[in-house]
Amino acid sequence: MATRDEVQQFYVDNYDFLGQWIVRPGDKLELGEKSDRVCRFCGKKEPEVTFRKVAHAIPESLGNKSITSYYECDPCNELFGMGIENDLGNWSKPMRTMARIRGKSGVPTLKKGGDGPGWRIEFVDGGFEIKSYEDDPVFEMDEANSRVTFKLKRDPYTPVAVLKAFMKIGLTLMPAGEMRNFEHLLAWIRDADHSRPFADKCPIMYTFSPGPRPNDSIGAMILRRKPAIVDQPYAYLILTYGNEQFQVQLPSEEHDGTNAQYSIHPFPPPRSADPQFDRAGRALLDLTSREVVRGEVFPVTMGFTRLEKKEAVGGTPGDAPETP
Ligand SMILES: [Zn+2]
Repeated sequence: MATRDEVQQFYVDNYDFLGQWIVRPGDKLELGEKSDRVCRFCGKKEPEVTFRKVAHAIPESLGNKSITSYYECDPCNELFGMGIENDLGNWSKPMRTMARIRGKSGVPTLKKGGDGPGWRIEFVDGGFEIKSYEDDPVFEMDEANSRVTFKLKRDPYTPVAVLKAFMKIGLTLMPAGEMRNFEHLLAWIRDADHSRPFADKCPIMYTFSPGPRPNDSIGAMILRRKPAIVDQPYAYLILTYGNEQFQVQLPSEEHDGTNAQYSIHPFPPPRSADPQFDRAGRALLDLTSREVVRGEVFPVTMGFTRLEKKEAVGGTPGDAPETP
C-alpha cells in the first residue's frame, strides 16, 4: 500500500485544490454575493424566489454551523431539506451520535422506535446514557477486552438519495466558474424521482479513523483534476467530520463521459498524534440503489475505560469509536 506521502504527492501531481475549509463553532463564512442572489440549483432569483432562510453549505446535522451560502433559494432549501438531506441525516445518524457530532439540537439521540419500551442512547452531561433491556439488548459487552459493540438501527433511507446529498454538498462548495461542467449532475440531484440513472459508477471512498477525534470541527475540500490528466475522476469532494471521511466523486458528463468507472486512490484522512493513516479502515460505499432500506443494523464497536452499572442493564462507555 502506498504511504501517506505517496498518496499526498499523487493528489498534488494530479489535482488542483479549488477550495479547502476547516471550520469550528464560532467561525462564520458566507459563500457567494449577498447583493446579487441567484439560486445555483434552480437558476432563479428574486423576486421569483425568496432567500430568507439560512442555507447551510454542509447540512447543520453534520456539525456545520459555520459555512452558509447566498445562492440557495428557499424552495430549493426546502426541497433538499425534506428530501435528500433527510436521507443523509438518517443514514449518517448512528455514527454521528457515537462521534458526538452536534447538529441543530445537540448530539442526536438514538432509540429503537416503535411502540413500547426500547433501547435508547443519549448523550448527557459529557457522557452517554444507555438504556437497554435484557431481552432486547442494543449492545454486546466484551468486558475482558473493554469493548462494547452497539447494534444501532438506521432510520429508513434511500441509498441514491444519500449519494445525491453528498454530491449536493460538493456542488455547493464548487467555485461558480466550474458550475457549467456539472449541469447533468445538478439536474440529477434536484430530481426527486430517483429512478433516473446517473452516477451509477460513483462509489464513495469511506475512511474511518479509530479513536478519539475532534467532534467540533468539520473539513471539506474540492479537488479538480489538472488539465493534462484524463484517467482520473474530474472532481472530488472530500468531507471529514468525527471519525469519518467521505471522498465523493462529482461526475461531470462533459469531462468524465457518461459511464466512466475509475479506481480511486484513497485520500489520506487528517493527521493526528497517532499514525492513523495506517490504522484507518477503508471501504467503498455503493450508494446507488434506488430501493428504500428499512431497519438496517449498523454495528459500532467502542473501547471503554470505565464501566458503571446502573439499574438492571446500563453502561457508560467512556472512550471513542474503534470501528464503524
Ligand atoms: Zn432554487
